[in-house]
Order: sequence, then structure tokens, then C-alpha cells
Amino acid sequence: MLDVASKAFFQTLSRSRTLKKAASRYGMLGPQAFARRFIAGETVEDAIPAVRAIEAQGLFHTLDYLGESVTSLAASENATRQYLELIDQIDRAGVERNLSLKLTQLGLDVDRAICVDNLRKILAAGDRCGFFVRTDMESSKHTDATLEIFETVWRHGSRNVGVVLQSCLHRTEQDFERINRLGARIRLVKGAYREPKSVAYQLKSDVDDAFLRLAKRLLTEGTYPAIATHDEDILREVKRFTSERNITSDRYEFQMLYGIRRDLQKSLRAEGYRMRIYVPFGHEWFPYFMRRLGERPANVAFVIKSLIAER
Ligand SMILES: Cc1cc2nc3c(=O)[nH]c(=O)nc-3n(C[C@H](O)[C@H](O)[C@H](O)COP(=O)(O)OP(=O)(O)OC[C@H]3O[C@@H](n4cnc5c(N)ncnc54)[C@H](O)[C@@H]3O)c2cc1C
Repeated sequence: MLDVASKAFFQTLSRSRTLKKAASRYGMLGPQAFARRFIAGETVEDAIPAVRAIEAQGLFHTLDYLGESVTSLAASENATRQYLELIDQIDRAGVERNLSLKLTQLGLDVDRAICVDNLRKILAAGDRCGFFVRTDMESSKHTDATLEIFETVWRHGSRNVGVVLQSCLHRTEQDFERINRLGARIRLVKGAYREPKSVAYQLKSDVDDAFLRLAKRLLTEGTYPAIATHDEDILREVKRFTSERNITSDRYEFQMLYGIRRDLQKSLRAEGYRMRIYVPFGHEWFPYFMRRLGERPANVAFVIKSLIAER
């Protein structure tokens, strides 16, 4: 229950303009600034060295140019342009080609047809140079639209695209059946948004049980699934399950967030598992950052300590 309350509290704070202004002033100022623990910087020039360092450790990555919930066509076009430039920049830098993006960043709440157009532009540019693009999953208000758009581009022949399902939602086992039948690559997560009990499990134990149920189905029936969690108990059970079923480590990957459980990221890699790190960057880091605080209130102490150290 604390989990739900904390998510709710930080989700409310994430809408505060005053807090956003204050955090934006200090959060990225200097190499030790508190938001840098979770965000690889504000520009692509910051993000490329971060992903090179990840590659040097034998880990994979996916880059997320932060942004969400845009309210104008101009902002959605701007985000699309930024992603197209990012594809060029990654291509020139010669680092791994894997992106994550949010459909509300491409205008989902403004004009659905334009959002689809924007996504198709990014997928077409990405396809030309071998990119894989994952559409992140946002709050349950956007689940239907996100899955429908994903299925539309899939039906139109895009295969360099994957989707995310959240174990916290009651609907996910049904969505899983449909999306998995397509042969699409699914990233399984618990879900980062506060959701009402009409649509989502409220107890962590129920979310975790659903995660394990879905993970096991993905591992046996899915197409190169991504098991995205930092939960040691779940990871232990997934390792036991894959070993028991002889599911080799090239048939799936683990994923974790930049700056979270770096010890586990390294140890899983050392054990021979594939590990992909989700690397967010960009000026619009505040809502992402607040979700990370909401997941683990102890992170607030970390922020306060960093602020004191910087004074
Ligand atoms: C690669 C990746 C992509 C994701 N994409 C999406 C998405 O598209 N949509 C979506 O809704 N959610 C997404 N998430 C977030 C996800 O839904 C969870 O909110 C988040 O991963 C925390 O849950 P957990 O599975 O790690 O388990 P939890 O039970 O929350 O945490 C397990 C342990 O992990 C560590 N931990 C977890 N979170 C933090 C944190 N913020 N700071 C420090 N330690 C922490 C702690 O040790 C904790 O005990 C993504 C997560 C990952 C790893």
C-alpha cells in the first residue's frame, strides 16, 4: 500500500511547476548533480559517452530522448525531428541502434493520426539503418491507443518495433495473448504509474505474481522478450525457470534502468545473461525523475544528501 501512496504522492508532485523549475535549476548542474544518477544528461553529447561506457562493460542499451504528454502539434513535430536527428547522430557515433519513445511525446493526446505519422517517420528512418524502436507504455489512459497504434504499424509491415506490457494491469493477460500472437517483441514491466483499483492490482504481491506468470509465458511462448525489473526475487525465479526449461540466454534479455542496481546489472552480465540498460536523456527529465523517486522513497534521501554535498 505504501507503494501506491508513494507513487500517487510523487505523481502529484511531478505536476508542480514550481518544483520542476527548482529541480531543473540544480538537478543537472555539474557532474555530481542529483538527477545525473538516473539521467544520462540533457544532450546527445552527454548521452553518447554514457552509452559507450555501458557498451564497454558488455551491456546493451536503449536510448530514450525524454519527453511526454505534449499538448501541441508543434511540440510533437519537434520531438519527431529530435528523434530523426538522434538516429543520424547514433549512426555517425557507431553505437548500438536501439531507441525507446513515448507516443504522447509524438502527439497522442493532440491528434492520433499525426502521432501515427510521426511514429512511422521514425520507424522508416530507423529501418534504413537497422534501428529497433520500442514504444514505452504510459498510464492506463493510453493503453488502448498505444496498443492500437502499435498493431497498426505492425500490420503495415514494420517489424523493427516492440511494445511494453505492465503486469499491474488486470487487462494485461488478455493483451498478452493478442500481441504475442503477432510475434512481436514484448518488454514486460510492473508499471510505473499510479492506477486505480478498477484497472490495476493495488498490492505489490499481486503485481509481482502477475509479473512472474507473464514472464514465464513470455519466456516459453514469446519472441525475444525483455524481462525488465530490478526485483531480485523475480530475477532469481526467472533464472531458475530458464535453466529448468533449457531456455538459453540468447532467447531473451533482462533490462534495467540507468543508475539503478548497477551491481545487479554487472553480476547478471558476468553470469552470462544479456542485460540492456534503458538510458534516458534530454531537458524534459523531471516527470521521469519523479517516477524514480516514487518507486523508492529512499531515493529522496539520496537527493537531499547530494544537495547538501554540493553546497
Ligand atoms: C528497462 C525498463 C523499461 C521500463 N519501461 C517502462 C514503461 O514503458 N512503462 C512503465 O510503466 N514502466 C516502465 N518501467 C518501470 C517499471 O514499470 C517499474 O516501475 C520499475 O522498473 C520498478 O519496478 P521493479 O520491477 O524494479 O520492482 P520493484 O519491486 O519496484 O523494485 C525492486 C527493487 O529494485 C530496486 N529499485 C526499483 N526501483 C528503484 C528506483 N527507482 N531507485 C532505486 N532502486 C530501485 C530496489 O532495490 C527495489 O527493492 C521500465 C523499467 C525498466 C527496467
